Amino acid sequence: MRTVGEHLADILGSVAVLPPLDLALLEAQGAVLAEPVTAPVPLPPFDNSAMDGYAVVAADIAAATESAPVSLPVVGDIVAGDTGVAAIRPGLSARIMTGAPLPAGADAVVPVEWTDGGNATVRISRAAPPGNYIRRAGEDVTAGQVVVAAGTRLGAAQLGMIAAVGRPRVTVRPKPRVVVVATGDELREPGEGLAPGQIWESNAYMLTAAVVEAGGVGYRQATVEDEPGKVMEMLEDQLVRADAIVTTGGVSMGTRDVVKEVLAGTGTVNFHKVRMRPGKPQGFGLLEGTPVFTLPGNPVSAYVSFQVFVRPALRAMQGLPPDSGAKVSAVLGEDVKSPAGLRHFLRGRLSFNRGFYTVTAAGVQGSHQLGSLATANALIELPEDVEALPAGSHVDVMRLPS
Ligand code: AMP
Ligand code: MG
Repeated sequence: MRTVGEHLADILGSVAVLPPLDLALLEAQGAVLAEPVTAPVPLPPFDNSAMDGYAVVAADIAAATESAPVSLPVVGDIVAGDTGVAAIRPGLSARIMTGAPLPAGADAVVPVEWTDGGNATVRISRAAPPGNYIRRAGEDVTAGQVVVAAGTRLGAAQLGMIAAVGRPRVTVRPKPRVVVVATGDELREPGEGLAPGQIWESNAYMLTAAVVEAGGVGYRQATVEDEPGKVMEMLEDQLVRADAIVTTGGVSMGTRDVVKEVLAGTGTVNFHKVRMRPGKPQGFGLLEGTPVFTLPGNPVSAYVSFQVFVRPALRAMQGLPPDSGAKVSAVLGEDVKSPAGLRHFLRGRLSFNRGFYTVTAAGVQGSHQLGSLATANALIELPEDVEALPAGSHVDVMRLPS
């Protein structure tokens, strides 16, 4: 028997950060930036107008009011994208559009709503202070500034920022490609009919989705029968394309536990009993350098094992801290019991009110009972030495991705 911490340390000591990859921006969505991205120029790159209106000298319209508007000749028309050089002198104005470069000599923009919208001459009915509706060069980002830090997962806003500083490609940690395979003679595809004794395959769907939630790319493979030759064949096929392989089923003490039978002692794969519930039977190791996680078959065991062991490993492969920061301290809303000597992961419902988290158990807790997992949003983590805790106790809780 080993502890959860020992098993996780073994895994994290074996997985390596994926080598960086240079990708076009939209291919990099969801990947983790492997380099800081800096701005080669200030943003905005030049002073420009924040409104459609007129560029003026503020002093010229200092006395303008509704009842005594100031009229100025309009000597130019500047639109966004104009690359020519424009200028005005005191006593003049230029029509200007949002994003157009401010003409030399102007120090304020009067929005069209404050004017009569004139073409040759404009009547302005409000004064504007110097700087009015001008976006200054560099007021968003200065030249040389890091706009997205290394280690950031690239979402829409970050990709927009990187494009805005003129970068067509970025160096990222690629999303780990994770092959997920269920094993078991009793498993049928959802949509198929069931003979007595059969059930629908659910783990590989669940775990493939969990891979995506952890930032990877999940590939659900066809279910493999409980036959050593078939398990071996599947592994050989998948090793070439996977950054990691996750299997479920066939790792406990039964007569058809073929994953264990085939893999024990292959590569560096080892099987252990881990002091936890659910999820006691675990296997892990490298096969031809590829991490292979053999998770138990009971659906909740498989799910909890993924969150506790596989997710941190996938994060480490992306160059992220293995702990996702999803842990919070919460107040127990009810009494709970826990098996002696085992780390107990209870499905829970976490809520935040009046400044603190409270958590209650989410229904029945058998390792085959997916119903309560599907309504849970957290795992309550009870330490090995705890056998019972009264309502009101503080507990560690892992928020589940949603
Ligand atoms: P095993 O670890 O293969 O002995 O499986 C333990 C329990 O989990 C059995 O009740 C299996 O029927 C069930 N089980 C195993 N794999 C799956 C799966 N992919 N989907 C749903 N249930 C499964
Ligand atoms: Mg099985």
